[in-house]
Amino acid sequence: PLVRSMEVVEKPNVRYQDIGGLEQQIQEIKEVVELPLKRPELFKDLGIIPPKGVLLYGPPGTGKTMLAKAVATESKAAFIHVVASEFAQKFVGEGARVVRDLFELARKKAPSIVFIDEIDAIGAKRIDLGTSGEREVQRTLMQLLAEIDGFQPLDNVKIIAATNRVDILDPALLRPGRFDRLIEIPLPDVNGREQIFRIYLQRMKIDDSVKVNELALLTDGLSGADIKNLCTEAGYIAIREESKTITMSHFRKAIERLRSKKLSRDVIDR
Ligand code: ATP
Repeated sequence: PLVRSMEVVEKPNVRYQDIGGLEQQIQEIKEVVELPLKRPELFKDLGIIPPKGVLLYGPPGTGKTMLAKAVATESKAAFIHVVASEFAQKFVGEGARVVRDLFELARKKAPSIVFIDEIDAIGAKRIDLGTSGEREVQRTLMQLLAEIDGFQPLDNVKIIAATNRVDILDPALLRPGRFDRLIEIPLPDVNGREQIFRIYLQRMKIDDSVKVNELALLTDGLSGADIKNLCTEAGYIAIREESKTITMSHFRKAIERLRSKKLSRDVIDR
């Protein structure tokens, strides 16, 4: 029953080509996750031990989940997706058991990739273990470390974790043999944004006024998720104006809106 909380995607359908930018990160994750799953003998023959766990870190909406799904697709591995904040909240007193069940499931479905999103929810440094909730989170983390330590690097199970807050993680998670490979997933630069726009514009009916390079220049600071939303918003503006195609002017209006929303959000954060 605990496994119900886990969204087991047997076959995710995200491909590397659906991801804009991040070429280096894709290359790296291919080498440390995909290749050992597909061709473990290469590593055995050379006596090389690939990492068991990879940690993706960076701002929200930059493609961490997408990248983990794409690796699973391309490695033909089962994808087991959990959100760490959920096992801490939903299962008071049962976090450790959920973790045990999770790894049992992963071994059963191997080759598999366990994706743990928001790992900081159980993996943050804790100075004081005063409350029972904090002790429970600590036990969940201990179980996770025990599970990671308990399997062999070439066992056909890989763990990918993601966080926006690498700075607060307990160093125990990052020790050799655990999440000892860190891959930064930053906000896209101008080229990355252009590629992300190309991916979403492909499916849209745009007219010649839409200039992808200009869109990329106008959207500094936006994530991939923001760009996707922006494209949808431009589409809505076109619908409201009863336009048959989406024009650069629709995009400009959408950018205006997003900027003012983002600004008011930043003010609230402060
Ligand atoms: P979070 O930290 O909020 O979990 P994340 O980094 O895991 O974010 P994703 O869930 O992968 O982000 O991205 C959210 C959505 O934004 C994706 O489903 C995708 O539609 C879009 N997106 C984000 N980054 C990219 C990218 N590099 N290329 C194409 N689409 C992207």
